Amino acid sequence: NNIITLSKVSKVYGNQIKTQVLFDIDLNIKSNSFNGIIGASGSGKSTLLNIIGTLDQPTQGAVMIDGVRTDQMKKNALAKLRNETIGFIFQFHYLLPEFTAFENVLMPYYIKGQKIDKKMNARAHELMDLVGLSKVKNNLAGNMSGGQQQRTAIARSLINNPKLILADEPTGNLDSDTTEVVYDLLRDINKQFETTFIVITHDRRIAEKTDRIIEIKDGKIFNDFSRI
Ligand code: ADP
Ligand code: ADP
Repeated sequence: NNIITLSKVSKVYGNQIKTQVLFDIDLNIKSNSFNGIIGASGSGKSTLLNIIGTLDQPTQGAVMIDGVRTDQMKKNALAKLRNETIGFIFQFHYLLPEFTAFENVLMPYYIKGQKIDKKMNARAHELMDLVGLSKVKNNLAGNMSGGQQQRTAIARSLINNPKLILADEPTGNLDSDTTEVVYDLLRDINKQFETTFIVITHDRRIAEKTDRIIEIKDGKIFNDFSRI
């Protein structure tokens, strides 16, 4: 069964001067799968991922996420869906450097003004453990290494136990050893929690270890290679 279905999705940016970035994309993503998206810079990868993540809307076509159509949804419903179903990891992790790693993991709750209860706290401790940071969780994020910061961002993306994680160049800023550690962590999470992953990457080694590689070229799916 599919957690994501895109039917004839197109995206045009601009009013006066129009640029079409995606052309009639048809795409199904299987639940619990680990998918890589590759392609040249400017080919439309981030736009595609942002549409899947409901951060952006298609100009045409239908988007179905976890059984619901999102392309016509209102802002509040989208925010709720993102909150409950989707975790995001970016190349630049957007941690708050003057807060501890632990506090950063709980940040989605602080931002919403929710009171942190015992359960949330316990979950945050569990996640710091999962990403291998339990010893340094009270360090300020700004004082951590790049790999530790990205692992903190990964823990934060898991706070609501999302079914789907979207990652845009999650290791783009890391050296090759750290890249391996972070990638293996994502793979562990995929196996352990049956979380579906879509990861944009320029890193061949990462792409080669995914279940499926989707190659985007000039706003179209140019190649689609599945190992499962
Ligand atoms: P990739 O992630 O493959 O590098 P993007 O999806 O970021 O590609 O961008 C695809 C094209 O769409 C690029 O030419 C980019 O300049 C353009 N683009 C992306 N976002 C916008 C935007 N908000 N407004 C106008 N053009 C955009
Ligand atoms: P790219 O490497 O694809 O050219 P960037 O590195 O600038 O793009 O950003 C990566 C992605 O993160 C983009 O698709 C952008 O939409 C998204 N992004 C940037 N800033 C934020 C933010 N503050 N919150 C959520 N998403 C963001």
